[in-house]
Amino acid sequence: MSAHVIDGKAFAEGLRERVGALAADFTAKAGRKPGLTVVLVGEDPASAVYVRSKGKATEAAGMKSDTIRLPAETSQDELLSLVQKLNADDTVDGILVQLPLPKQIDEQAIIAAIDPNKDVDGFHPVNAGRLATGLEGFVPCTPLGCLMLLKDRLGDLAGKEAVVIGRSNIVGKPMAQLLLGESCTVTIAHSKTKDLPGVVRRADIVVAAVGRPEMVKADWIKPGAAVIDVGINRIDAGEGKTRLVGDVAFDEVAQVAGAITPVPGGVGPMTIAVLLRNALVAAHRSAGIPLEKGAI
Ligand code: NAD
Repeated sequence: MSAHVIDGKAFAEGLRERVGALAADFTAKAGRKPGLTVVLVGEDPASAVYVRSKGKATEAAGMKSDTIRLPAETSQDELLSLVQKLNADDTVDGILVQLPLPKQIDEQAIIAAIDPNKDVDGFHPVNAGRLATGLEGFVPCTPLGCLMLLKDRLGDLAGKEAVVIGRSNIVGKPMAQLLLGESCTVTIAHSKTKDLPGVVRRADIVVAAVGRPEMVKADWIKPGAAVIDVGINRIDAGEGKTRLVGDVAFDEVAQVAGAITPVPGGVGPMTIAVLLRNALVAAHRSAGIPLEKGAI
C-alpha cells in the first residue's frame, strides 16, 4: 500500500486565501484592517525568521502587521508594560510574543498577562481551560492546523482511536483535547510511555510531536492509519549539508499508512495560516462583527 500524501502547503494556501477574502470583508465593515502585533525579544536567528514570515503572511492576507523588536536585555517588567499597552489598544486584535524569551523573563508570566481574547497563539491558561471545557476560545495554531488536515482527509473522526505522541502545552496536550472534542478515543503517549510501538499500533490516527528524527517506524503503524508528523528536525545529510526530517520515518511509514503528512510541506505551512485565521477571528470578536460558524 502507498499512502495518500497530505499536501499541507496547498491546504494552507487555500486557508490563507479564505482568510484574505474575509479580512477584506472585515475591513469594509469595520473601517479598519484586522491587526496582528508580534513581539520579538532578542536576536535568536530562528525566531527572527519566523517573525519575518509571520509579518509577510499577515500583510499578504490584507491585515495590519506590526512587529515590535526589543533588545535581548529587556526586563520582564518592561515586556509586561508593553503587553499591557497592547491589551488596551483597540487596533491590536491579536498579540503574539515570540518564544523562547531570554532567560531573565518568565514566559508563563508573560503569556498570563496577554488578554485571553487577543491570545492568538492560544497559550493563555484561560484558553487552555476553554479548550478543555469545550468553550469558544483560541486554540494553538499547530494542533488546530493538524486537525484541519485530518478532517479534510477523513471527514468525521468520531470513534477513531487516536494516539498523540508528545505532551507539550503547545502541541501534544491541545492536540489531544481537539481530538477528544471530535469524539476520538485518545491516548497521549510521552517519554515515559511503556511499549510505545504497541500503543501507536492501536491508532487509526497518529500525531507525532516529539522532536526526534524519524522515530516512528513502519511496524508501529496500523495499516491504513492517518499519520500526522509535527516534528521538524534538521539532520546531517553528509558533505556538510543538512536536511529537514520529521518524527516519522516517511519512506517506510508511507508504505503502510493510509495518509501521511510530509516534512517539509505538511503541518509546517499550516501553523502560520492558522495564526492568520485566529487573528481574523479575534478581530471579528473584538469589533462585534459576526463571523459565520464554519466560515473559516
Ligand atoms: P517538546 O520538546 O516541548 O515536547 C516533546 C514531547 O515529546 C514531550 O512531551 C516528551 O514527553 C515527548 N517525548 C520525548 N522523547 C520521547 C520518546 N522517546 N518517546 C515518546 N515521547 C517522547 O516539543 P514540542 O514543542 O511539542 O515540539 C515537538 C516537535 O514538533 C519538535 O520537533 C518541534 O520542532 C515541532 N514543532 C513543529 C511545529 C510546526 O509548525 N510544524 C510547531 C511546533 C513544534
